[in-house]
Amino acid sequence: MPRPTRSLAARAEEVYRILAPLWPDAQPLLHYRDCFELLCAVLLSAQCTDEQVNKATPDLFAAWPGPQALAAADPAEVEAAIHSLGFFRTKARHLIGSSRILVERFGGRVPDSMEELLSLPGVGRKTANLVLSSCFGQPGIIVDTHVLRVSLRLGFHDRPDPAAVESRIAELVPPERRTRFSHALNRHGKWVCSARKPACLGSELPPCPLAGLCPRIGLANPRGS
Ligand code: SF4
Repeated sequence: MPRPTRSLAARAEEVYRILAPLWPDAQPLLHYRDCFELLCAVLLSAQCTDEQVNKATPDLFAAWPGPQALAAADPAEVEAAIHSLGFFRTKARHLIGSSRILVERFGGRVPDSMEELLSLPGVGRKTANLVLSSCFGQPGIIVDTHVLRVSLRLGFHDRPDPAAVESRIAELVPPERRTRFSHALNRHGKWVCSARKPACLGSELPPCPLAGLCPRIGLANPRGS
């Protein structure tokens, strides 16, 4: 895809202007009380919903409160506690492995740099960006499945590649707006521009506030056809 044009930057600016006031709460939908709990919740959220994670984490954090406890946990017991979330063996391994590294290398604290976060098992850029923005106030472009889908439909990129979309948003959106921008795109994708029934395709949802500027790329009846 060519470098972003002025019109693409203008579209991103307009998307921000419309969506940011509609979704003012630029915070994760996952429930957590500290950075460690947020890190765990994001690790658990792969391939399942935030709502499912929020049901499972209170018991998990009550049984293993903090990285020291989870680092020493019996994997089978952790697997049983998160069984409902799918991929429970992998997720348990990531929880315990990350906790051990936090204890051994970071004094039991969640680190505040991308490089250090990416050294934890199961942590990718989406997780790291969410932790950095929510816990440490750094600009974070959190490209989850909703942000990816909406970005493609809006024409911000033509590759379904989270890293490419993250880079493109970084080119289009100034740092101080990035966290709010990606949270707003997340809510928009979750509740308006859904995967199967986007509001512009005649679903029972309210009209899409981006309908006037969106090229609807990838949908059956794109604008102008
Ligand atoms: S116009 Fe359709 S494809 Fe574009 S953002 Fe709105 S719901 Fe999504």
